[in-house]
Amino acid sequence: MKYKALYGTHDILPDDSFRWQHLEDQVRKVFSLYNYREIRVPIFEETELFARGIGQDTDIVQKEMYTFVDQGKRSITLRPEGTAGVVRAYLEHSLGEKSPLVKLFYLGSMFRQERPQKGRLREFHQFGIEAIGSADPSLDAEVIELAVRICDELKVDDFKLHLNSIGCPKCRSMHRDEFLNFMKNKLSSLCDDCKTRYLRNPLRMFDCKNEECIEQLKQAPVMVDFLCQNCQMHYAQVKKYLKELNIEYLEDKRLVRGLDYYTKTAFEIKSDILGGQNTLLGGGRYDLLVEELGGKNTPAIGFAAGMERFMLVLKMQKSLKCDEKKLNLFVATLGEEAKSFALKLIRDLRRKNVTCETDYLQRSLKAQMREANRQKAEKVLIIGEEEMKKGKAILRDMRSGEQTAIRLTEVGRVWA
Ligand SMILES: [Zn+2]
Ligand SMILES: [Zn+2]
Repeated sequence: MKYKALYGTHDILPDDSFRWQHLEDQVRKVFSLYNYREIRVPIFEETELFARGIGQDTDIVQKEMYTFVDQGKRSITLRPEGTAGVVRAYLEHSLGEKSPLVKLFYLGSMFRQERPQKGRLREFHQFGIEAIGSADPSLDAEVIELAVRICDELKVDDFKLHLNSIGCPKCRSMHRDEFLNFMKNKLSSLCDDCKTRYLRNPLRMFDCKNEECIEQLKQAPVMVDFLCQNCQMHYAQVKKYLKELNIEYLEDKRLVRGLDYYTKTAFEIKSDILGGQNTLLGGGRYDLLVEELGGKNTPAIGFAAGMERFMLVLKMQKSLKCDEKKLNLFVATLGEEAKSFALKLIRDLRRKNVTCETDYLQRSLKAQMREANRQKAEKVLIIGEEEMKKGKAILRDMRSGEQTAIRLTEVGRVWA
């Protein structure tokens, strides 16, 4: 084979794409019930937007972005996540002036140059939401409830909701001092990444997958114990609403978000079936991002979910219940006259929403019947040369095997 899809990318073939469509349909349906409206933003943006929006010190910006210089010498980056572009669009089109709370959803490809592993690719697909304009904890509860609802709707078994608060810059600075102090004499046993994080972004050390780092962090002071009064109250309200909604959650003091602009509520939905890479969906508040990108101080919250991971879980659980659209009719013909008639017939039937196919390979009737069978056609209309002259055909029900003679003028009524 001369050409292959690039490492970390994949083709979604027709035998699989209908499952993706099903997943997307379900997700869109739920988003719309919660009054989120779709936004489609470009796949590439100025590199600066992501550097600012995601954070210069993050792994994404440092190591994982697909960045290139275009013919006009501009630095361009393929979007590694959805939020920065959506907030850029929100600001560019002054959406906040048209409506104080803007609820948006998106679906699409994202790009990160990571080491490919199960359910993690270099071009991957996400769906997500952003609710921009409210600091009210009831919105946090709605967003979390929506995330849970999607898992329910898609029939994900045994997923767990992890919840934490990562505070605001005010309480974070109090935590930071204690944390740095605690970790100071453990530095030598940490991985190189964590040594850098120690200097630049200590909270992110909790994200480290290195076992020695995890061990060293076990007793480390956690953010949630340092929340200022405002953040504490917010967190308590979110938990209260979740209880009222009967949503089970696990308080996970080590849960941090990988991106700089997150504040207060952070949450993830995990599924054990995935093993190590077990996060299906993650999100939280990002009250600082809109301002960071040049807007007014505007609170916001959202989440993003990996579609490859959802597909993986649903396939492993065998709980993806959807069928490909059926082929209603295959028209098998013999002779030029019948063929010409079939072309008109299937055009008319398709206008009545009957899914039709015929033969374009000049196959024998027997081979056409085999093809109809292979394509799981519900019915086959057989128009032979003799029948054509009499204005008749044979209609075969492929399930029962029953065959009936039918007038060509009456074929349309079968699906009336
Ligand atoms: Zn705070
Ligand atoms: Zn580490």
